[in-house]
Amino acid sequence: MSSILSIQHISKSYGPIQALKDVSFDVPEGCVFGILGPNGSGKTTMLGIVLDVLLADVGNYSWYGGMEHSTARKQIGALLETPNFYHYLSAFDNLEINAAIKQRGHDDRDQVLKQVGLYERKDSKFQTFSLGMKQRLAIGAALLGNPKILVLDEPTNGLDPAGIAEIRELIRQLNKQGITIIIASHMLDEIEKVCTHVAILKKGTLLLHGPVDEVLLSEDQVEVRADNTAQLQQALEAMPGIKKIKLNDNTLQLTCDATVTTAQVNAYCTGMGITLSHLLLRKKSLETKFMELTNQ
Ligand code: ADP
Ligand code: MG
Repeated sequence: MSSILSIQHISKSYGPIQALKDVSFDVPEGCVFGILGPNGSGKTTMLGIVLDVLLADVGNYSWYGGMEHSTARKQIGALLETPNFYHYLSAFDNLEINAAIKQRGHDDRDQVLKQVGLYERKDSKFQTFSLGMKQRLAIGAALLGNPKILVLDEPTNGLDPAGIAEIRELIRQLNKQGITIIIASHMLDEIEKVCTHVAILKKGTLLLHGPVDEVLLSEDQVEVRADNTAQLQQALEAMPGIKKIKLNDNTLQLTCDATVTTAQVNAYCTGMGITLSHLLLRKKSLETKFMELTNQ
């Protein structure tokens, strides 16, 4: 996957508050990229910078390997703040006003309403919509002009669980249509299920980034026990791919490379003449990891 957005060494302060500290990461084309972190960690500031709404103090970024920003901007649909829709106007008419303000996507309204699942309700007044439908229309407004990239800031804020599920499903659908999606959120559990890549920020510092699978796999833990703990520990210390061994009562907790499987651990021990009485893979959920990293 080639990178559609490359962020290099970006720092930004508001007076004495340093909102971003030397942040660098790449967003691969076709992914759902989650910029995650507690409130105040610098997510909105980062989106503002890459959308040319804010200026970075230090560092730079490039879309599509260096495309001119104004050209790149035409390929990006953004939802940073909820648009002010008129309650007494229909979904269709609200999109017309939005298209006029943005000067793009006037002919896209039917298409966009289909994409966000509101085509059947195109003539209904905005005020008759559920929270999830209102937010889907807001995402629809960001889709005017047929962007290849969609940037969403806290798209599930203020939604009920049903609305959150709708948005998650919509993000999945849009990504399937080939749109790269960048989402900032402090509600990790809500978007964990849709992100393929993450960058985790805390107080402006990038703690970790990469494909969700790798971020999690690199932290897999395998638990093992055998009758002779000391002998088991000695044997495993020599096993390739095991990065750390921690003794907890009479259980050994192994931190392994992503390539190490429980079957390999078992076969290795058997080969060393040790019979395991316990073998368990503990996958860290992204949420657990996030909580640990951000000390929430
Ligand atoms: P997030 O979106 O992760 O909640 P923000 O990017 O909004 O974080 O904010 C990062 C930090 O910068 C916070 O400490 C916030 O209070 C501060 N900040 C954001 N915008 C401004 C501003 N316009 N003036 C002063 N401080 C700001
Ligand atoms: Mg924010």
